[in-house]
Amino acid sequence: MNDSSAFFIHMTWFIDAHEDLAWNIVTFQRDYTRSAFETRRLEAATSIPSFNEDTMLGWPEYNQANVRLVFGTLFASPARAGAQEPANAPFYHNLLEANHLYWNQLGIYHQLCENHPQAFRLVLSRQQLQAHLQEWEQPGGEQKAQPVGLVPLMEGAEGILSCDELSRWWEAGLRIIGLAWSGNRFTGGTHAPGPLTAEGKDLLAAMAEIGFILDLAHMDRQAAFQALEYYPGTIITSHANASRLVENYKGNRLLDDDLIHAMLERDVVIGVVPYNNFLKFGWKESGGRAQISLRMVAEQADYICQLVGDAEHVGIGTDFDGGFGLQSTPIELNSIADLPKLLPYLVEMGYTVEQCDRFASGNFLRVLESALP
Ligand SMILES: [Zn+2]
Repeated sequence: MNDSSAFFIHMTWFIDAHEDLAWNIVTFQRDYTRSAFETRRLEAATSIPSFNEDTMLGWPEYNQANVRLVFGTLFASPARAGAQEPANAPFYHNLLEANHLYWNQLGIYHQLCENHPQAFRLVLSRQQLQAHLQEWEQPGGEQKAQPVGLVPLMEGAEGILSCDELSRWWEAGLRIIGLAWSGNRFTGGTHAPGPLTAEGKDLLAAMAEIGFILDLAHMDRQAAFQALEYYPGTIITSHANASRLVENYKGNRLLDDDLIHAMLERDVVIGVVPYNNFLKFGWKESGGRAQISLRMVAEQADYICQLVGDAEHVGIGTDFDGGFGLQSTPIELNSIADLPKLLPYLVEMGYTVEQCDRFASGNFLRVLESALP
């Protein structure tokens, strides 16, 4: 690392567009005000690492990496017969249960921020965003531990009972909705190809009226193309990589070139994911974690920039602790504190400090500044 990269790493700050914090709090009672390393020590003798690997996240590590904002998800999944799942994991058997589980997780973010205002705060409006970032910028602000801003994101819309309920979700602080995880009554999704349904189109129309940001991650490509056409509001893809760079990849979770093009036409910012399964298919068998570098995440960012011809549409959505942890991340990472190690690879590829700042936070910040109320 040369002097100039050391300088901008100090200055660059991050938005992480996807973390399943509430899921982990519900399932494992993880305390994210603690250091990730302390959590690992406490969980070492439990069954937690066998379900979700070692945590990447903790308040001290957010501060070390200069992560100022996180899109914190609400996530529950349909119960699967015979699946080995942690006892407290939020699974639902019907829509009422889903609704209850998703509301519970929004409540968890409120509680987290009320109980630990020094560590976490909800950022739900432009005004709150401005005040939050100003606090980080105060002289000497970087010396003291700062609270991380949370913007609630619903991953999978089955938590929503009906369009009539949307205004209550908005009032309670939900700002971003991804229709899909797997397929559901609204849309085709991961491992469940299919289009937007009539119910999905109705939901999009109601979301647009209120002003929600739409997240396309996990939508089947057919449905994503439709949503790009139908949704008049702001759209992001919180966590997904380009399929083209992932050799032998088969599936509908990553983004094909034509879909990336269509996203760019709608000014969509895409969060690239430092998750080994989304970087190299079969990585465990072919050399393991040692073979997966943050360089491959930089290559994902570069590929999308090259495809669309600018550096305005890539951000980062780590998906950390979302069903995986340390053992499935690139070798340079020991926790989220190491996220800035991505930047020298981008500089090596010819990106300017200003462009790196946009990847790290500027592009998703542009989204928030225009779409928050
Ligand atoms: Zn996801």
